[in-house]
Amino acid sequence: MTAAVSLQNVHKVYNNVHVVNDLSLTIHSGEIFGLLGPNGAGKSTTIRMLTTLTQPTQGDIVVAGYDVSRQPREVRRQIGVVLQQTSVDGDLSVWENMEFHGRMHHIPNPQRRQGIQQWLDYVELSDRRDNKVKTLSGGMKRRLQIARALLHQPKILFLDEPTVGLDPQTRRRLWEIIKGLNTQQGITLLLTTHYMEEVEYLCDRISIMDNGCLIETGTLSELRQRHGQGIVMKKEGDRWQYQFFPTLEMANAHLNQQSDKTGMMARASNLEDIFVELTGHNLD
Ligand code: ADP
Repeated sequence: MTAAVSLQNVHKVYNNVHVVNDLSLTIHSGEIFGLLGPNGAGKSTTIRMLTTLTQPTQGDIVVAGYDVSRQPREVRRQIGVVLQQTSVDGDLSVWENMEFHGRMHHIPNPQRRQGIQQWLDYVELSDRRDNKVKTLSGGMKRRLQIARALLHQPKILFLDEPTVGLDPQTRRRLWEIIKGLNTQQGITLLLTTHYMEEVEYLCDRISIMDNGCLIETGTLSELRQRHGQGIVMKKEGDRWQYQFFPTLEMANAHLNQQSDKTGMMARASNLEDIFVELTGHNLD
């Protein structure tokens, strides 16, 4: 499997604080990879380093075969980026925003026009092509950002919290688009999120990040196997105590052995449980 992204002992230091601390990670071509962590964990900073927007203080980063510090132009040609801060121009139309981006990337006509049409169709915005962007909903703006990031046919797409602030229905629609980019268009995706369901629905593998450090990497089922697939919860006062078990059957058996089951329940573990176990706090 070839590496789409590789980080080796990467640090980013702001004001003497290692906001990214000794990060080593490989993302394979063709996967959807999720970087999960609470606010301030260092996810956006990592994305900014991978997309050449800021330099690592220390360590090596290779994206699509190019070194981000020595070959930033080549990296930028291979990647698409959708950041949290919406950077689409509200006073331009949907088409004009795409056109502007296409010219910035020196995509010649008729390729540019075809690409704009193709990606607006893909994100289902063709019927809005002449509308000013400021008239679009939050979800539509996000779809436009994605279409724009794809115009120069990147191999890897970086999405920083792609569905933050969107309602559940809009979020689901975006998930379908993101999944399709991977399965139908063969694009490798790296996304950051603090939504468990997003990770569970979309990601082939995940890394959990906290305080600048990578604390766990794997598929969801690997993580559940490592930490326990079953859990027994017990309410003590207004807090829940959790105990992991290798399987759900073992969690159920433990519960059944209790003479007093008041305030107790057994269930399958999920990513949130593992996150709390690893970090001692919730994601949000
Ligand atoms: P996340 O995306 O996981 O919420 P960030 O990468 O945005 O985390 O931030 C990680 C830490 O780095 C935070 O404590 C944040 O305040 C700090 N930070 C991010 N960018 C800068 C900057 N340009 N200057 C100083 N500190 C920064």
